[in-house]
Amino acid sequence: MSNVDEVMAGYAGLQADQEACYKDLHQHPELSHQERRTAGRVAARLQEYGFTVHSGIGGTGVAGVLANGSGPVVLLRADMDALPVREDTGAQYASTVTARDGDGREVPVAHACGHDVHVSCLLGAGQLLAGHRGQWNGTVVTLFQPAEEAGDGARGMVDDGLLRRIPALDVALAQHVLPGIAGTVGTRPGPFLTEADSMKITVYGRGGHGSMPQNTVDPVVLAALITIRLQTVVSREVAPGETAVLTVGSSQAGTKSNIIPDRAVLLLNLRSYSQQTRQRMIDAVQRIVRAECQASGSPRDPDFETFDSFPLTDNDPDTTSRVAAAFRAHFGDRAGRAGQQTASEDFSDVPRAAGIPYTYWAIGGTDPDAYRDAEQAGRVQDDIPANHSPKFLPVLQPTLRTGTEALVAAALAWLAP
Ligand code: ZN
Ligand code: ZN
Repeated sequence: MSNVDEVMAGYAGLQADQEACYKDLHQHPELSHQERRTAGRVAARLQEYGFTVHSGIGGTGVAGVLANGSGPVVLLRADMDALPVREDTGAQYASTVTARDGDGREVPVAHACGHDVHVSCLLGAGQLLAGHRGQWNGTVVTLFQPAEEAGDGARGMVDDGLLRRIPALDVALAQHVLPGIAGTVGTRPGPFLTEADSMKITVYGRGGHGSMPQNTVDPVVLAALITIRLQTVVSREVAPGETAVLTVGSSQAGTKSNIIPDRAVLLLNLRSYSQQTRQRMIDAVQRIVRAECQASGSPRDPDFETFDSFPLTDNDPDTTSRVAAAFRAHFGDRAGRAGQQTASEDFSDVPRAAGIPYTYWAIGGTDPDAYRDAEQAGRVQDDIPANHSPKFLPVLQPTLRTGTEALVAAALAWLAP
């Protein structure tokens, strides 16, 4: 038996507990920066498994350290936060939770991105590694980070001294459950997830009576023209073949039909795989917005504010091929290559701050028959709910087992003697 098989032999003994833990987390989702209950459960379990636990890093972040002789120091990471989504999966253990968001609004909360899978799998892997110390040498650091969805959870832990509290790291590893056949894993060297920025743009008009437009500068018309013109950034200014997305997700102005307001606010989301494309898009947005404001006779320069910025997830080729080889050895033809995703992640803020290589892989979470049927019909995008959908719900198994195995197999690629 391989070291991975020896460690995974313990899985049958913890499967029921892991599934119960997952359902508990699923029924108690918490918004970004509010992951107090989740962090408490995580810390208690890590302590029970014999980890040295550091809690409250960057708010609710938890790091567990398990030293087992000399050898590499491997960081395994899971994110803990849920989303303001009303779950509509019909699951027996569906969330009915509501909470107050950062703006004080009461919102429904659900684990619509599957971070409860990540937490359960990392706890399972931690328990297995702690229980089979004869199979490996080195140090495992399990990192449970807050606020991935806000893009600032990883940076918050780094800023709060994470790297001073844990041993010097050699490599960082993380995973995400995505639509795909449950039981499969996918790796990809190089750029895997886009960098992303959100931008708030305020443009100014001159308000007045709706019956006298000649005395006003109408920001509603201005915002509409900007929204249309921004559609040319990706189609006309970014090279064909280069991936980029620009979405105007919100456009707001005015209160009443017969009042011309004095300002409009646009919220944009921009994504790309290169710093060059990112800068090109930001420059184009600012140029177009300023020029449209000028064309409309806007009385004041527009304001630009960037928020929710995510770094590029750019998998180190050597680290990725080491993990891919470990996956092929363990999973056989269930290990493959992942496609590029236009989603984003802040995980890489930790390895980047530590100056170490990293890789991030995908695990499938969809019922295999449902996925194959949808694939055959060419209807994956229509029929298979993706992350953030109210209907997104990974099948319990083999998703949890596979996510646990993937973490163990990847960690042992550095730690097995
Ligand atoms: Zn998400
Ligand atoms: Zn996610």
